[in-house]
Amino acid sequence: MTAVLSVRDAVVEYPGGVKALAGVSLEIQDGEFLAIVGPSGSGKSTLLNVMGTLDRPSGGTVVVAGHDVTTLSDRQLSALRGRWLGFVFQQFHLTDGLSAAENVATGLLYAGVPRKRRAPLARAALERVGLGHRVGHRPHQLSGGERQRVAIARALVHEPALVLADEPTGALDTANGVAVLELLTRLNEEGTTIALITHDRDIAARLPRRVEIQDGRVVADVAGPRSPLPAALVRAGGADGSAR
Ligand code: ADP
Repeated sequence: MTAVLSVRDAVVEYPGGVKALAGVSLEIQDGEFLAIVGPSGSGKSTLLNVMGTLDRPSGGTVVVAGHDVTTLSDRQLSALRGRWLGFVFQQFHLTDGLSAAENVATGLLYAGVPRKRRAPLARAALERVGLGHRVGHRPHQLSGGERQRVAIARALVHEPALVLADEPTGALDTANGVAVLELLTRLNEEGTTIALITHDRDIAARLPRRVEIQDGRVVADVAGPRSPLPAALVRAGGADGSAR
């Protein structure tokens, strides 16, 4: 297996002496689906920003798809981010004036894909997330669950080495949250590597690997069988009605 991301001894210290990360090491292999789980204030967002090259740690190293990001300029960093990483946020962050397909195509802007290939790739990504019939819809014409699926298509369209999903079900009701988790599970089974950040232990328990953060440190890193979706949640709206 190949490491798609490697964080070594990352330290992030905020003014006032708060150590949001107090020496975190984490390696993610190609094909994994892991949860980074911890209570509010434990350092999850800080770690996400470091993993996503949005913040530079004050100590330690971060290697994304074989590139040591600590040595790169801001411009090189945004190129690396556009090529190798995909982001999914709690609040979707879609552009309202653009159609679903145009929103997805923005995921290709920094990936070096020629303009005329962008529309067909965006349509194919929407089909992968089950929204082939919604390509022309604007975000306000879509449900919350559909908006998050558009955002997931945007995160995948350039075939990144790693998708970082920050509380991707946090703004959704239970049924849509379950459907989004099932979608991410299927995409992982098809080969996408995903790190999902959550404060919700029930969500984390469904993923094949759980990395637990507390006070800016990794306190557990457990791989093992995931819990099945609770039957009540599956009845409430699992995408295909079947438990995993
Ligand atoms: P989580 O995402 O798990 O809720 P964060 O990574 O946001 O945790 O925060 C980790 C710690 O760092 C918390 O104690 C928080 O108060 C502190 N922190 C986060 N951002 C800043 C900042 N910009 N300035 C000072 N302290 C911060």
